[in-house]
Amino acid sequence: MPETHTNDQPEDLNGLARAFAQSAVLVVAAGRGSRAGAGLPKQYRPLAGRTVLRRTLEALMERFDAAHIHCVIHPDDRSLFDASVAGLANLAPPIIGGSSRQESVRLGLEALANDAPSYIFVHDGARPFVSAALMNRLARALLEGAAGVVPGLAVTDTIKTVDGAAVTGNPDRDQLRAVQTPQAFPFAALLDAHRAQAGAELTDDAAVLAAEGAIVHWGEGDAANIKLTHAEDFTAAERRLMGDLSDIRVGQGYDVHRFEAGDHVWLGGVRIAHDRGLKGHSDADVGLHALTDALLAALADGDIGAHFPPTDKRWRGEPSETFIRFAVKRVSERGGMIAHLGLLLICEAPKIGPHRDAMKTRIAELTNVPVDRISVQATTTEKLGFAGRGEGIAAQASATVRLPQGPGA
Ligand code: MG
Repeated sequence: MPETHTNDQPEDLNGLARAFAQSAVLVVAAGRGSRAGAGLPKQYRPLAGRTVLRRTLEALMERFDAAHIHCVIHPDDRSLFDASVAGLANLAPPIIGGSSRQESVRLGLEALANDAPSYIFVHDGARPFVSAALMNRLARALLEGAAGVVPGLAVTDTIKTVDGAAVTGNPDRDQLRAVQTPQAFPFAALLDAHRAQAGAELTDDAAVLAAEGAIVHWGEGDAANIKLTHAEDFTAAERRLMGDLSDIRVGQGYDVHRFEAGDHVWLGGVRIAHDRGLKGHSDADVGLHALTDALLAALADGDIGAHFPPTDKRWRGEPSETFIRFAVKRVSERGGMIAHLGLLLICEAPKIGPHRDAMKTRIAELTNVPVDRISVQATTTEKLGFAGRGEGIAAQASATVRLPQGPGA
């Protein structure tokens, strides 16, 4: 989505970088809001394969070191938070918030007071589309001496004040702005204002500072920087993000393992009792191996043997979930998502049908792909060939992966 307003001046980028280095961010993510449905607090809802909060944090990292980004969370949400930020290196540990937004911000500021930054940006965890250009505009206003600065958008609807059923007033639209986050302030001034206004039930930090008599400035906001609130906001945001994942790749994988003496096989992540086993240096799960290769093929990122050489003793007896989890991580490191996984097992025995749903469920767990995007099929070869003679099991797999367009993509 285009910027509504940019006036970045290249000559002051060093000054801006210094301002960001002296700043911290409080990401307010303690709310219980689930108006968007799905039961989860909205900041933990998935949005095109990653949680809203994670997307917000990744956007902030365009300007801030992870170590300067502090999330304020609800005490019940620790495991949701940990899962949401897994793999984000150096992120500051979360701070436990209070019973209102204002109290959560105050507790966040208090937690930073001993090692206080010069400036503090306060941002909603449910605004994942914050742009670097917007953050630059806020930092520039602070460098120019603003007591506080908020992004504001002109109001296009005509606004009325009301009292019960009666319209009581027609405020001048030119004097109204719809205000967003991040809101940026000198740290000490905002902490003092929050201490003085504790319990006042103000809905944003600009109001807390203004209640102490400061003149807060507004700068041009960004229409794309929406706060995800309603189900339709999620639908629109998902469509926008998925549009960005327009580099669509299909990869194939194929694997064969021979039977040997044994009493079970691993197929598609499921242990199946059988009168023979499969020979291999790992657990010989021919299905997960084929899926791993299909994912790596979609990324044009080598194959399972290149990443996990069979000559390396480390992988002896290794569960095959290690390999497929690795391939899934490679997809997410590229900012991609897995749109579909298909697995075809080729054997006379064991019978696959009774285990098909268990395999789909296990593959969904291992890959974070919804089960309705996973196919498990089986066929025999009419007793022809090695599979038909019961000498081994073969597997074919396909993976559809969506990546962002980009250099080298
Ligand atoms: Mg194999």
